Amino acid sequence: MIDFGRVTFVKSAPTVKDKPGATLPEIVFVGRSNVGKSSLINALTGHVVAKVSSKPGKTVLLNYYNVDDKFYLVDAPGYGYTISGTRHVESFAAMMEDYFADNQSLKGVVFLIDARHAPSKDDCAFHEFLINRRLPYLVVYTKADKSNQKERAAFKSALEASNFARVPGIATSTVDRTGFDTLKARLGALLK
Ligand code: GDP
Repeated sequence: MIDFGRVTFVKSAPTVKDKPGATLPEIVFVGRSNVGKSSLINALTGHVVAKVSSKPGKTVLLNYYNVDDKFYLVDAPGYGYTISGTRHVESFAAMMEDYFADNQSLKGVVFLIDARHAPSKDDCAFHEFLINRRLPYLVVYTKADKSNQKERAAFKSALEASNFARVPGIATSTVDRTGFDTLKARLGALLK
């Protein structure tokens, strides 16, 4: 189980070449913009490190946080939003291709999906990418507190029709901390 004792912001890297000099194992958090990534990082670590936004699509950098000098928690840019009519997905894909290419420090990907909406085309494409690259990953379904029973059933059917069907996921909520212990335990296992 991961303990988030001291969490410090190290740097924002516009490209992988700008990542911190010191090498530590890395866990990267990825998901579409507004999925609740910043909220989850803050609540999980118990530190206000990532900026929670009311407007989607603020993070366009890889943000590195040092956790107890044990690993870097890397906050990746959210994908799937539009800037002046141009979809951000191409630059996101290029950045992530770069990030994942031959990254020996990468121990796992925390892949966030909003539990209220069926996985989007971009979610399924990124999932395909993770599978093809054989990268170790966890799927986290965020904002679990927001759905009622009917919505949960609809979400489950949507998953069954997608490439998430056979992947066990962790439902989380920053409101009541659902799933936090499981997520911390799974992160610990990735880092072993
Ligand atoms: P990001 O763009 O992925 O970093 O998403 P944010 O963390 O900025 O969250 C987007 C919105 O969702 C904000 O209004 C958050 O308050 C809300 N949110 C995030 N996580 C949860 C959750 O677990 N429960 C509820 N009810 N709202 C959440």
